[in-house]
Amino acid sequence: MQKEPEQTLFADLGLPDPLLRAIKQLGYESPSPIQEKSIPILLDGSNIIGQAQTGTGKTAAFALPILAKIDLKQTAPQALVLAPTRELAIQVAEAFQVYARHMKNFHVLPIYGGADIRGQLRSLKRGAHVVVGTPGRILDHLGRKSLKLNELKTVVLDEADEMLRMGFIDDVDTILAETPETRQTALFSATMPDRIRQIAKRHVKSPILIKIEAKTTVVDTIEQAFLIVNQNEKIDALTRYLETEETEGVIVFVRTREATVTVAEKLNARGYVAAAINGDISQPIREKTISRLKKSQLDILVATDVAARGIDVERISHVINFDIPYDSEAYVHRIGRTGRAGRSGKALLFVQPRERRLLGIIEKDTKQKLNGWEKPTAKQMAEQRKSKLAEVLAAKIEGELPPIYHQWISELSTSLTLPAEQLAAALLSELYSLEQLLPPPESKKPRREKPSRDERNDRGSRSERGEKKQRKPRREDSVELEKYRIEAGHNHGVQPKDIVGALANEAGIDREYIGRIELNDDHSLVGLPPGMPKDIFQLLQKVRVKGQPMRLSRTQNTDKKTPQKPTTDKKDTAVKRKKPSPNTESSNTKATEKSRPRRKTSDARKKPQS
Ligand code: AMP
Repeated sequence: MQKEPEQTLFADLGLPDPLLRAIKQLGYESPSPIQEKSIPILLDGSNIIGQAQTGTGKTAAFALPILAKIDLKQTAPQALVLAPTRELAIQVAEAFQVYARHMKNFHVLPIYGGADIRGQLRSLKRGAHVVVGTPGRILDHLGRKSLKLNELKTVVLDEADEMLRMGFIDDVDTILAETPETRQTALFSATMPDRIRQIAKRHVKSPILIKIEAKTTVVDTIEQAFLIVNQNEKIDALTRYLETEETEGVIVFVRTREATVTVAEKLNARGYVAAAINGDISQPIREKTISRLKKSQLDILVATDVAARGIDVERISHVINFDIPYDSEAYVHRIGRTGRAGRSGKALLFVQPRERRLLGIIEKDTKQKLNGWEKPTAKQMAEQRKSKLAEVLAAKIEGELPPIYHQWISELSTSLTLPAEQLAAALLSELYSLEQLLPPPESKKPRREKPSRDERNDRGSRSERGEKKQRKPRREDSVELEKYRIEAGHNHGVQPKDIVGALANEAGIDREYIGRIELNDDHSLVGLPPGMPKDIFQLLQKVRVKGQPMRLSRTQNTDKKTPQKPTTDKKDTAVKRKKPSPNTESSNTKATEKSRPRRKTSDARKKPQS
C-alpha cells in the first residue's frame, strides 16, 4: 500500500467538542473539500463566497461554524440563513438540529411561506438561535416586527443563484438592510453569473473566495456508467450489477463509516466476500484487509474516500460509487483505483434523483458523457441464472463427475422412490430460493423525486434561467416524439415551465426528453418520448399544473416539428433514461438471505444472487 497523503480531520478544523461528537455519530469520516476550506475561515469571522452545489456538503460547511459560535443564552436570532425554497429551508434547519444534538436548548426555526404564520409567531416569541427562511416570509415577519435581526452575527445566502432566478434578490436586499453592518456574510451559489457577482460585491465585504479546483483527467481505459437510483434501491442495483459483471476485485465507495459497515454486511449476507475499511479501523487491520484483497481472499472492499486513499491493487476491475462523490476530483480519484497498470476497468456511479446536477458537473469537468447503465429486470436476472447454471452443469458433466455422485442419486432415488428429476429439483431449491427463480414482477411505481430543493426544477430549464445562452442540442431532437394533450392552458395561467416542472418532478421524465410545448387557451400540447408506461400515463391524469389536473391524453399525430431520425440507439436511450426505476428492494432479497446456502467455490462466491 502506498503512503497515504495527509488528510485533514474534523478535529483539525477547530470545532468544539459537542459538534465533533455529533459529526462522529453521523459517521462523517473527514470534511468534504468545501467544508475543509470554509469552516476555518468562517470560524475566524471572515466573509466567504463559495461556489458549491447540492451534495458537496455545503450545509455543514456553514452550519458547523455558526453553531460553534452560538451563544445559547442569547435568545434573539444570531444567525439567519436565506434559502430559495421551503424544502431547502426545512432541510437546512434539520441539518442544524442534527449537528446541534449535543447543544442543549439550541433552537433553530424554519420560516417559510405556505405554513401557518401563527405557529411561526409563537416560536419566534419563544426565541430561536438560528432562523432559516425563504425571503418572502422573512420579510413578512420583519414587517410585523415579529422577527428582529439587529443582533445577528452571521447571514448565509444559500443557493444565491436560485434566489436570483426566482426573483428574490430585491427581498434579499431589503432583509440585509435590517441586519447589522458588522455581521459576517457567507454566500453560496452553484453558479456565479455576473448578477451574483454584483450582489456579492454589494453584500459580502472583503470575501474570501472558495472554489474547489478539480483535477479531472480520467484514464481512458476506464469504462464509466451511471444509474439514477433512489437510496433504498442501491443495494439491489449493486447486487444486480455485481451478478451481471465479470468482476475481480471491487471497491465500493460510500460516504460514512456506518455505510461501509452496513453495505459490507448486506453484501456478505448475499454471499459476497466483502469487508469494510474506514478511518475507525486501525492502520494494521486496514493493511491486512488490503493484502487479503490483493491475494484474492477478499473480493469487495467497501470504503470511504479517506480509507481508500493510496490503494493500488492491480486486480481492482470495478469501482462502484455507491454514494456520489462530493466533486469531480474525488470522482476521478475514486475511479482511478481501477484501470491500474495499464489494465482496463469499469466504474459505476449511483446518482440519486436530486443529485443529477452533480452528475452534470462531473461530466462537464471530466469532459465526457457517461452512459446510463440499464439495470436488468428481475426476470432477466432469473434468465441469466438459468443460463449460468446450464453452463456450470455442462462443464461438470463434461469434466466427468466421480462415480459416487451418480451412486448417491441412484440410491436416493431407490430409497425415496423418487425419480431423478424430482431429486434434481430439490437440489436446485437448495441452491436458489423460489423468489430467485421466479422473481415477483418489478414494481412499476414511478420514481417520485422528493420535493426537495429540486423544486427548482419546476421553475424552468437551465436555459430559461439564463445560465447558458446557447441552446444545448436536446436529446429529443433525435427522437420522434408523441404528441400529448394536457387540459390546462393560458386560461389557467399555465406557462411552459410549469408543464416541464410537473412532468419532470411528478413523472420523472427527464426534461431533456420533453419536446415543444404549445400553449392554447384551454389546453396545451407537448411532445413526449414514445412508449410511455401505463402507470405514468395514469399518474399524469391526476397531476396538477397550476391547480388544474393534467388529464393527459394522446393525440393522433406525432410532433411534426421533430426530425424523424431512425437512430434507434438514441431513441432507446431516451425512453430508458426517463423510465422510472422500479422499486426492487424487495422481499425477494430478504427471503434470499435466509434461504440461500453459502457456496463454496470462488466462482459461486463471485456470482451470488441478489
Ligand atoms: P449538502 O451538500 O449539504 O446537501 O450535503 C449532502 C449530503 O452529504 C448530506 O446528506 C450530508 O449529510 C452529507 N455530508 C455532508 N458532509 C459530509 C461529510 N463530511 N462526510 C459524509 N457525509 C457528509
